[in-house]
Amino acid sequence: MEKSSKSALVIGGGIAGIQAALDLADMGIHVDMVEKKPSIGGRMAQLDKTFPTNDCSICILAPKLSECYRHPNITLHAYSEVQKVEGTAGNFTVEILKRARYVKESECINCGLCAEKCPMRVEDEFDRELRKRRAIYMYYLQGVPAIMTIDKEKCLWFTKNACRICEKACEKEAIDFDQQDQTITLNNVGSIVVATGYNLIEDFEKEALNIYGYGKFRNVVTALEFERMECASGPQGGHIKRFSDGVTPKKIAFLQCIGSRSDRYKKYCSSICCMYTTKEAMIAYEHDNSLESYVFYIDMRAGGKGFQSFLRRGASDYNIDYIKSKIAQIDIDKDENPIIVYEDYDDGKIKQLKVDLVVLATCIIPPEGIEDMAKLLGIELNDYNFIKTTPFIPVETSKNGIFTCGCVHEPMDIPRSVTEASGAAARAAEVIRGG
Ligand SMILES: Cc1cc2nc3c(=O)[nH]c(=O)nc-3n(C[C@H](O)[C@H](O)[C@H](O)COP(=O)(O)OP(=O)(O)OC[C@H]3O[C@@H](n4cnc5c(N)ncnc54)[C@H](O)[C@@H]3O)c2cc1C
Repeated sequence: MEKSSKSALVIGGGIAGIQAALDLADMGIHVDMVEKKPSIGGRMAQLDKTFPTNDCSICILAPKLSECYRHPNITLHAYSEVQKVEGTAGNFTVEILKRARYVKESECINCGLCAEKCPMRVEDEFDRELRKRRAIYMYYLQGVPAIMTIDKEKCLWFTKNACRICEKACEKEAIDFDQQDQTITLNNVGSIVVATGYNLIEDFEKEALNIYGYGKFRNVVTALEFERMECASGPQGGHIKRFSDGVTPKKIAFLQCIGSRSDRYKKYCSSICCMYTTKEAMIAYEHDNSLESYVFYIDMRAGGKGFQSFLRRGASDYNIDYIKSKIAQIDIDKDENPIIVYEDYDDGKIKQLKVDLVVLATCIIPPEGIEDMAKLLGIELNDYNFIKTTPFIPVETSKNGIFTCGCVHEPMDIPRSVTEASGAAARAAEVIRGG
């Protein structure tokens, strides 16, 4: 296809941003993709398997990561953020801040020798702080670009003027402590796609999880932590173990709507939890088929193709008991086994269930910095701080030439994020091609 003189900007390198970038690039439009983390992939990279097929998440994602990285029409700016946007549809000027990694991108071969030698242990954000990484690190095992990054806040050289062990370990001489942040200006940007995804309520309002004992009881975890626990490349090597005693749980309770559909926290439904909870219970059963799972729900929202039969399969083939209920409180016994006190909506009785582990399906919230991003782009947000979209064209923002897709405008699953990404890419291409 004929190459366009105008380019597109995609902000956010999760599955939605990746798909939008690939579609635009395949149309012959040059794309600059800006991702604030050291590698692209977003939340999908953190998942173990994905409903509705329960395929390995990274196996589906990895080919797209490398396609995005290698595509001749895509320039990837990872570890970067957009800091200024001027102009109008068809002709934006964009300023990007590219943060210093203190590692030369052209030299690093991701051999990991530097991290092996680094003496600093730091909470690993990608693994939801369930394990430690080093101050020089790869964001995650299969991350793209596969380049190490020095965490300036934790590195002994930057904090105490000592160490530099990584520099000696690096045979490629890729460490560069003098590297500086860079500002990159993009002219002639025709359209912009915003795909900055989501955070979870525990990232900013941990108190919403207090009544479930999260942070107090070691055997209460969040659903995203549980994804990492199930994952073969995760902190437990794919062998699900309780944090109190390292024992494999035989009874797991999955609690729905944590922080969502709540008058106190977020009024909206997170939309994907009913499905991913059943998936997590199914996968845990595949790890150990003596497992009993209990899903405590308000009502089941499984509005997608094949979703209802997915839940039925959970009950019939994976030993999942769905309990329509309201949770009153969670306590623990002397062995740290969580005890759930709940009202069973079927008979109105107050009951108790002792389990080995509790998994909380926590509310999806707009991504960190969304208000600044909205100001920068001149777009509106809705009542819940997600990007406001046009009712009948959900990829259109309040500003001409700026489109959106994925969870940044409302919680949604991967197939819908991908579909929307293609929609946003088509609209963004229209602006550029003048069609
Ligand atoms: C526990 C759990 C399990 C799930 N399981 C499934 C499942 O089995 N199947 C399914 O279909 N869906 C599942 N989902 C939903 C799935 O995670 C989302 O549908 C998907 O990740 C949405 O992709 P996205 O690109 O919109 O957002 P994200 O994956 O959040 O990606 C957004 C990207 O934008 C980047 N970013 C953020 N802010 C900025 C900024 N200011 N500048 C530049 N970059 C920025 C982020 O770093 C990130 O890389 C699950 C979700 C959870 C919480």
